[in-house]
Amino acid sequence: MARGRFIVCFDFELAWGRFDKVFDESYLSQVRLTRKEVVPSLLAVLERHNVPATWAVVGHLMLRECNGVHSELEPYRPEHCPDWFSRDEGGVDDGDSVWMCRDLVKQIAACPTPQELASHSFSHVDFSHPALSRKRAAQELELARDLISEFGQEMKTHIFPRGRTGHLDVLRDAGVRVYRTSRSPGTGFKSALGQFVTEALARTPPLVTAARDELGMLNVEGGMLFNRRGRYRSAIPVSRRVVRAIKGMNHAVKSGGVFLLWNHPIDFATSKPAMMTAFDEICAYAARLRDEGRLETIPVRELY
Ligand SMILES: [Zn+2]
Repeated sequence: MARGRFIVCFDFELAWGRFDKVFDESYLSQVRLTRKEVVPSLLAVLERHNVPATWAVVGHLMLRECNGVHSELEPYRPEHCPDWFSRDEGGVDDGDSVWMCRDLVKQIAACPTPQELASHSFSHVDFSHPALSRKRAAQELELARDLISEFGQEMKTHIFPRGRTGHLDVLRDAGVRVYRTSRSPGTGFKSALGQFVTEALARTPPLVTAARDELGMLNVEGGMLFNRRGRYRSAIPVSRRVVRAIKGMNHAVKSGGVFLLWNHPIDFATSKPAMMTAFDEICAYAARLRDEGRLETIPVRELY
């Protein structure tokens, strides 16, 4: 039987993550904390336990400077935000930008435990949205690929912003081998209650499915979201999430499957010490299983 595998995956976005939904001082202060403290701390944990994670980086973060306009790109005008770059301030990153952080991406790429840089598109566009033309989708991926290559890596993995899929042939043409989608937890009270119960009882999380699609790419679906957001979920102690993640890893060991933990670094910003301790415990457990030869810790691209 195959050995169990464990994957850590971050959607790394800074302000690109939610600028089209929320853009207030509280959000921006969390973004700044993510840049200054959260990501360096996460890297320290990964290095300490020798865990190679996959970082799906919004391509724009890898820029040193920009004009704030991006007229070279085919327009993308979803109804709720017809001018996609309206908040992008442009200029040169002064070390405090919420739109660019090339130095931080450099740190990720230089981590002694090799980390995978993956595509999260160039500007966090929704691939399922009718406003996203084929041409713009291709531009988003080509820019991401070129920027990733500046750090000496080949773009092999694409994580769909908001988990929404589309333009698969464009992905393939850009050289993507593996993409990740997430199962929607649904909306409404029933779904929120279901999620609350699942997390409060620390039910064993599902393993991921990895299926070859008709274009020859690997579609990786599922995984456990590690965060504290949500109307009711913030009431659940972080320790329950550690218990759940441990169950997920044990499940992967027993079945020879793949357990994937994913999150957004900004989710550490609201309760950083507790979240970081929990993440450290999860990585320590993974490292123990790995050192006993029972679990592999791999980035997403190694599934291909
Ligand atoms: Zn820009």
